[in-house]
Amino acid sequence: MSMKQKLINFFFPKYCLNCQKLNSWLCNDCLKKIKLSKTTCFLCGKNNKFGEICSICLYYQGEKGKEWYINNLIWTALYRQKICKSLITSLKYGGVIEIADILAKLLNEKIKDTYNLKDAEIFYIPSSSRQKKLRDFNQAQLIAKKLVKKNSNFNLNNNLILKKFKQKQTSKNIKKRWHNPNQFIYQGKSLQNKNIIIVDDIVTSGATLNQVAKCLKPYTNKKIRGAVIFKS
Ligand SMILES: [Zn+2]
Ligand SMILES: [Zn+2]
Repeated sequence: MSMKQKLINFFFPKYCLNCQKLNSWLCNDCLKKIKLSKTTCFLCGKNNKFGEICSICLYYQGEKGKEWYINNLIWTALYRQKICKSLITSLKYGGVIEIADILAKLLNEKIKDTYNLKDAEIFYIPSSSRQKKLRDFNQAQLIAKKLVKKNSNFNLNNNLILKKFKQKQTSKNIKKRWHNPNQFIYQGKSLQNKNIIIVDDIVTSGATLNQVAKCLKPYTNKKIRGAVIFKS
């Protein structure tokens, strides 16, 4: 350990967010306590191998006017677990950015076990200028960056941007979000023959991920996959 690191640890000690043991934000014992999710269809919860959204679910969603552009969606664990909540809260609101690394490690394992891709373009949900003003980082971008560092087959794609809207998009609109005009624009090169993985921290209805997928769809002939840390 370098002198600088020793000093940092002395003045700002790291402690496990779950059991308060010193030296890391999540000790190995508590890491093992996170109950990892099985790989299933995001919509009906039926077990499958690659996290594909099953065709029956796609059919019923279509009947309700919800068209899915995400082919596969995986997550590491359920958010309702106390440890998972502490990790996200400390990252998002406590500014403990090292937690992004712990989360990226979990996600990388899940991606390796399920998608097993030779290469992939990694996308993340871009933050709006309003969000940028409130916080100096975007947790999805941070996790995506760390993920790419852990996996040399991945390339971080920063060419997805958020359109400016006059009207604020609040959580009250979540249900309607499916039918909102697409908030994303892709400004990069063609994605033909590229595997695509969209990364985020938490998935609830999947509407935002689906909007990103819809935006990217015209640029690719391959499947569009989602990989998020926790499912709420
Ligand atoms: Zn612990
Ligand atoms: Zn299903």
